[in-house]
Amino acid sequence: MAAAAEGTLRRRRAHAVKAQPKQAPPTKTGPVEISQPITVKSLSAATGIKTKDIIHKLREIDIDATVDQVIDADVAQIIASDCGIDLKIREVSTAEDQLMKELASRKRGQLVPRAPVVTFLGHVDHGKTSLLDRIRNAAVAAGEEGGITQDIGAYRYDLGGKHVVFLDTPGHEAFTAMRARGANMTDVVVLVVAADDGVMPQTVEAINHAKAADVPIIVALNKIDLPNANVQRALGQLAEHGLQPRQWGGQTEVVETSAVTGQGIEELVELLSLEAEILELKADPSAPAEGWVIEVSHDPREGVVVGLLVRDGTLHNRDVILCGDTYGRVRKMFDDRGKVIEEAGPAMPVKVYGLKDMPPAGERFYVVSSLELAKSVAEERQRRKRTEAASVAPKASLEALFDKIESEETLELKLVVKADVQGTLEALLESIEKIKSDKVNIKILHSGVGAITESDVLLAEASKGIVLGFRVVPSNRAASLAENKGVEIRTYRVIYALLEDLEKAVKGMMAPTIREEILGRAEVREVFKISRIGNVAGCYVTDGVIARNATVRVVRDGVVVVDNRALASLRHFKEDIREARAGMECGIRIADFNDIKIGDIIEAYQTIEESSTTTSGQSDSSGVQTGKPVGAG
Ligand code: GDP
Repeated sequence: MAAAAEGTLRRRRAHAVKAQPKQAPPTKTGPVEISQPITVKSLSAATGIKTKDIIHKLREIDIDATVDQVIDADVAQIIASDCGIDLKIREVSTAEDQLMKELASRKRGQLVPRAPVVTFLGHVDHGKTSLLDRIRNAAVAAGEEGGITQDIGAYRYDLGGKHVVFLDTPGHEAFTAMRARGANMTDVVVLVVAADDGVMPQTVEAINHAKAADVPIIVALNKIDLPNANVQRALGQLAEHGLQPRQWGGQTEVVETSAVTGQGIEELVELLSLEAEILELKADPSAPAEGWVIEVSHDPREGVVVGLLVRDGTLHNRDVILCGDTYGRVRKMFDDRGKVIEEAGPAMPVKVYGLKDMPPAGERFYVVSSLELAKSVAEERQRRKRTEAASVAPKASLEALFDKIESEETLELKLVVKADVQGTLEALLESIEKIKSDKVNIKILHSGVGAITESDVLLAEASKGIVLGFRVVPSNRAASLAENKGVEIRTYRVIYALLEDLEKAVKGMMAPTIREEILGRAEVREVFKISRIGNVAGCYVTDGVIARNATVRVVRDGVVVVDNRALASLRHFKEDIREARAGMECGIRIADFNDIKIGDIIEAYQTIEESSTTTSGQSDSSGVQTGKPVGAG
């Protein structure tokens, strides 16, 4: 029960007790044990208090109960204590507890070095796939058997006597989505940057995603064979993003490569093994296996097929695997060459048959001692998932941060910051850096120009951060992803409002939350120039409602071009209308704004002020983009 609710309950109880000084004498005294779930009947049986007395007491605190009604443990304890009974709730040992015990009691054997797991990240078309292919060819040429079956999602090569595992995750979104599920399986990131193109937006994202995961980065400066390759410019750009090249006295290894000529491939591979040595990656082959799911599919005849990466221990045929809320016994196993195998040691990708259900990629797996245990844990998790499905609590929010300030030592507020233009972004970041507090450090996970994307939301989710948008809004998909994942997105149109919120948050004085509700969106399909009146946007309402008295903003390519405007007119053909609903066409003229263009999105919204429970600062919502001035619209 929530503390507040309990407080109310206790107060009410105190009141009820005062009003009724005479208690029915309890049959039992002293400590009494009871197991959950507790019903009126079981409470009566355990304590000797008559069921009708329990029901009566429940009614006093506004709970209408029957004898079979399940009641809260706290409520049961209060009722018992009213009768002088100390009620002890028996701790039921869950299957999950048993699993924890089993995992904790595992003895460690001897640790031996294991192969590093490498992920290639970088801007599209900079050569990730080509480099991987080239490495594979080099391995085959060096005597490895060919015939890699790529459906495991990872492959392991013997390169110069050393093994390296390459994860085949397409891009940093998958990388971060996996990390959001706790699967930090990458030991080293190879950042692929085309030397002719230099650092591009996705390169920056990749850098920030890798940094947020705290994974070392080796740069492959690729396409070095091209005549317009510009090494110095690329090195400069890398340095600007915090990757000071070793050639310039920094810490980041930058290898010039070409997937076409093969230049630098050997050096890259050597660097990877070297990095693995530095990281001292170790594993215990004698332990029961654990690791991650990297690929999932379904075979109509064979059932669920998963690509697993063994992180530690050795996986044997016939082992029992627990994987999220599914489980099963390994029926057969293949390595990445399609060869049937009986066991797979640390850092081996394997294809496994035998799971009952499809787990999501990125899920952890454990080998456990018995099928019964695996089954009970999986079923317990399924039950929990069903009950939790209804409520998605925000993972991180400025308000939640405030709550934590009271309780913890130093905290980190992690931010993804997006803005409309580079100049503003830089000014914003500079100001954010200046915000100081003894309790909270601000860490920028990623910053960039343009709309808030799904990738931003995923990064915030994985690192438990929040997304701040300055004069930009989330794309539809990013907004719904954020809602799903419980990631907070705050958007602003005035710098000081953003800074003020941050400052208040880190100093523990949250302002009231201004929550925005989007009422509807319309897409501009035509622009009519009408002399003396101005431009009228011929729109199609894509969702929700555009109301005549709504407040609107205009979004162009994810960037807010004007905000907090009223409508000068809203028409359907020649008629003035009060609102236009989804699927309708309408003509919109925006007050004091004439620069409307085809393709613009007109967003109608309203703001709701939710007074903060934690506030000691005052309401100042004027600059919050999500806030139409209170009273407008
Ligand atoms: P990815 O999107 O990062 O996986 O990029 P790809 O590996 O698909 O490569 C994109 C394009 O760049 C393809 O046409 C490749 O042939 C080409 N490419 C990749 N590496 C090199 C290189 O080192 N030199 C040259 N000249 N072209 C390359």
